[in-house]
Amino acid sequence: MNRNVTFCFLYFLGLAAVVLVTGCLSAGAEVAGTDITGKTDVCKWQDGKQAVFLLEFDDSLVSHIDHAIPELIKRDLIGTFYINPGQKKYKSQQLEWRTEVKAAGMVLANHTYTHIGALSVDAWDRELALCNEEIARCCPNLPMPRLISYAKPGGLPSDHWLLSDEEMAASLKKHNLIERPRFWGPPFEGNSVEELYAVIDQAVISGEMGHIDFHGVGGDWHVVPMDLFTAVLDKLVERRSELWITDPISWHQYATERETARVNVVKANERGIQLRLTCNADPTLYDLPLTLITRVPDTWSACTVSQGKTTCEVAVIDGTLQYTAVPTGAIIHLTPVSEKTRP
Ligand SMILES: [Zn+2]
Repeated sequence: MNRNVTFCFLYFLGLAAVVLVTGCLSAGAEVAGTDITGKTDVCKWQDGKQAVFLLEFDDSLVSHIDHAIPELIKRDLIGTFYINPGQKKYKSQQLEWRTEVKAAGMVLANHTYTHIGALSVDAWDRELALCNEEIARCCPNLPMPRLISYAKPGGLPSDHWLLSDEEMAASLKKHNLIERPRFWGPPFEGNSVEELYAVIDQAVISGEMGHIDFHGVGGDWHVVPMDLFTAVLDKLVERRSELWITDPISWHQYATERETARVNVVKANERGIQLRLTCNADPTLYDLPLTLITRVPDTWSACTVSQGKTTCEVAVIDGTLQYTAVPTGAIIHLTPVSEKTRP
């Protein structure tokens, strides 16, 4: 390796280390002159967390409502439930799925209506549409159209999958479904508590997304015993300050928006800062707020952050302000709160 190549290698290694340590990617905001007031970074993950973790549950099982959700609620954790509303087991607890699950802050996702596969274009389309309709019925206050996570039903023979990959993908796109990462979880993979802990630790180390997927929890089939399940939840609580524990669509939206996020400084001085945050993703489907960190004047101790109709007050820490904003291009106003006007 010659000297120039070595220098470049070390330079990029150093740059990578900075990104890893700060967890933020510069959005390239520039301010006129030499003042860095207004310089803004987009955090790699929401709230400046180091990595992301997802908990997913397949087949809308009785044990999800009876065992998994109460344990999630106890720890203020979120889970994503891939439902089959056309199956008897779902219908036996339809009222709970339609009321309690959403009220508990859980997320519903599409696992097809009856878990039967794709037997024809029309039947496949119906499987996806009916499941989406039930999810919309369970979550009437969420805006439509919106992205919904999709998990392909497993354990079916090949003669239940008669469509081409292109035909399947076209239907997913038509119904705003985003395929989740491949199933990973007990009893197929990671059956010991050490293996499951390692997945959580590895997510933090990598700075990326990790996930564990379940079927039965303390009952039903492919069962995870309750002590193993609660050990995983307790480990997540222990690492909560480092992990953004969320659902697959929020993770997908954040990563997609951040990929092309740009911050332009419209104005930056002692009296206030105005920024414009944009990205290339379709704003009707990609509307999740991104977390930004902006350099503000040293004299500021707190300021109001407003964008459109949203306003909040945020404390300044070490000359920087961390807050959220949507990448719609609507102007973000950062205005110092003087000590006199503070309550
Ligand atoms: Zn399934």
